[in-house]
Amino acid sequence: MANRAKPDVVVRACGDYGEKNAVSALEAVLEPLGGLDWVEKGMRIAVKANLVGPFRPESAAVTHPSLLAALARLLTGRGALVTVGDSPGGIYGRVYLDRVYNAAGMRAVEAAGGRLNYDFGVGEADFAGAAVLKSFAYTRWLDEADAIINFCKLKAHGMMGMSAAVKNLYGTIPGTFKVEYHYKYSNHRDFADMLVDLNEYFKPRLSLADAVVAMEGNGPTAGVPRFMGALLASESPYKLDLACAGLMGLGRDSVPYLKAAYERGLIPADRSGLLIDGDYEAFIAKDFKNVAVRRELTFFLGGGFGALFSKAADRALRPSPRLEDGACAGCGVCSGLCPAKAIRISAGKARIDRKACIRCFCCQEFCPKGAMKVHRPAVARLISRL
Ligand code: SF4
Ligand code: SF4
Repeated sequence: MANRAKPDVVVRACGDYGEKNAVSALEAVLEPLGGLDWVEKGMRIAVKANLVGPFRPESAAVTHPSLLAALARLLTGRGALVTVGDSPGGIYGRVYLDRVYNAAGMRAVEAAGGRLNYDFGVGEADFAGAAVLKSFAYTRWLDEADAIINFCKLKAHGMMGMSAAVKNLYGTIPGTFKVEYHYKYSNHRDFADMLVDLNEYFKPRLSLADAVVAMEGNGPTAGVPRFMGALLASESPYKLDLACAGLMGLGRDSVPYLKAAYERGLIPADRSGLLIDGDYEAFIAKDFKNVAVRRELTFFLGGGFGALFSKAADRALRPSPRLEDGACAGCGVCSGLCPAKAIRISAGKARIDRKACIRCFCCQEFCPKGAMKVHRPAVARLISRL
């Protein structure tokens, strides 16, 4: 390490989630960053996984348990006390979290010497340096940690275009508060700034991305698993995500929170400005199916000319939630969690009040049937190919 510059991002192959492979791939991806030498005996480490709901590992919706178990094994081997947790949307309590832990295979973490989080307390933070998130509620288990490791899953995402390390920290907002925050930061740019604020507040010591099997299509919960065979690591969640975006064929401006991070000087203009250790190009999935978010007219037409366009024209290009024909079971999950109260169930089917909808895509994220899709107007689809 002495003569080598520390890379911004490391990428290594991880061909499957087998126990031995997971440990060796983790060791390999961490080595150029100095390994886990910073971990001291007795250190309390919180591993913020992506446990978006009671999804099985094969769904590719959650960070894979074998990678989390491998990390727990490496950390406890150094004498650290490891807790793995997350706060999915919904009630932040033992009954629901046990469902999530069991479905996502998280008992493997306990078998590896780690703990699962059962502290469901809520803290209140003031953050004077925030762009938008000046005060907020957060999951208090993180207070116990000497260091946070952010272990995300790489997924397409309806609202932000992608979900990786930066978006993963939205799980620091307690589940029951998420609806309120979606409503408060309903503008995609505000939501992006809020995510960057969260990452600046919690400052994870290390960020890891499970891109062994990512999720493409109707992500972050109802998409399709996509083998990519990669594990990534960085000391910066923003740089990690800029690299991850490139693997999915996305650029900085296609991901609102990367744009926000760039404007705050947290990432270079594009991934060519990153020092990436590993055969990055080999992992790029050129045909990755994304849920592209709205690209502003001004982005294509230039600030001055674009600004002349009315908000109505810009609105016409926005993606919106749409029901897939015949797929809705009328269960009411979406209407119960919609922050804008824009959904009602009528004749056994969800109906969306388009005027009230704030396009947070919570309905798409949490529909248990995968019935809610991100619909992009034809003009927007055409423009995004330009
Ligand atoms: S769209 Fe999904 S969550 Fe909403 S009622 Fe239909 S099946 Fe349930
Ligand atoms: S209808 Fe869906 S996208 Fe619109 S505000 Fe409600 S949950 Fe969000």
